[in-house]
Amino acid sequence: AVEVQHLVKRYGDLEVLRDVSLEVPEGSVTSIIGASGSGKSTLLRCLNLLERPDQGDLAIADEAIRFDRNPQGDIVGLDRRQLQRLRAKVSMVFQQFNLWPHFTVLGNVSEAPMRVQGLSKRRAIEHADYYLERVGMADKRDGYPAYLSGGQQQRVAIARALAMEPRLLLFDEPTSALDPERVSEVLGVIRNLAAEGRTMVLVTHEMAFAREVSDQVVFLDRGFVGEAGSPGEVFEESRDPRCRRFVAPAA
Ligand code: ATP
Ligand code: MG
Repeated sequence: AVEVQHLVKRYGDLEVLRDVSLEVPEGSVTSIIGASGSGKSTLLRCLNLLERPDQGDLAIADEAIRFDRNPQGDIVGLDRRQLQRLRAKVSMVFQQFNLWPHFTVLGNVSEAPMRVQGLSKRRAIEHADYYLERVGMADKRDGYPAYLSGGQQQRVAIARALAMEPRLLLFDEPTSALDPERVSEVLGVIRNLAAEGRTMVLVTHEMAFAREVSDQVVFLDRGFVGEAGSPGEVFEESRDPRCRRFVAPAA
């Protein structure tokens, strides 16, 4: 499970996350929605420890950290070993795929398990083949990313994230960079992962998909949680006027 309490993240004077608390139970899917600039990506990067929160508590699969500042104003909490342990539990899939262009598909998926987890080459390849199969990309294993469509690249990126066997899987707008006809193949893969009970946090503009796949939807608004609840509660029953306006179908 994931627990975030009173998370604060600033960039200089700009307070991007002002007080964010949320809980993601084990095996459930949470979608984060909200206007551009509301802090969705920042929140994901904090969950991934790509960013260091200024304040707040973060617990991911038995690893808990409190962020704060000492009297000198330095951020404390988080030693390097703890950071490594935490990062090993979380994988992220980005909008722009970020595959390594000079590695084959197989290389993209097997490299990190070899380097970071110390799997033998043979094991890492078995592993990679298994996850490539899962995302329907086994037949492209020896090709290079440049020869794949966006949807195929994103599926490889998902296999790469899965190969690290994370406890938490993060997606930041995984379909926004895709041609419309390629969106559904990526959503299909994510839907399967949800069905098998993976713990996931997904930032998305695909409202229908968020509604379908999520156990919980969180509406982020100017650095606060404006609304959180089941898809029905957020999409239909919210009493927060800004949330209502955001989810209202375009007239
Ligand atoms: P979008 O829907 O456009 O992706 P978002 O909700 O993901 O938006 P963030 O990317 O989290 O929003 O950005 C929130 C705010 O923080 C924005 O005002 C952004 O300009 C600012 N910001 C994000 N990253 C940085 C950074 N590294 N340095 C300074 N400001 C940043
Ligand atoms: Mg973003």
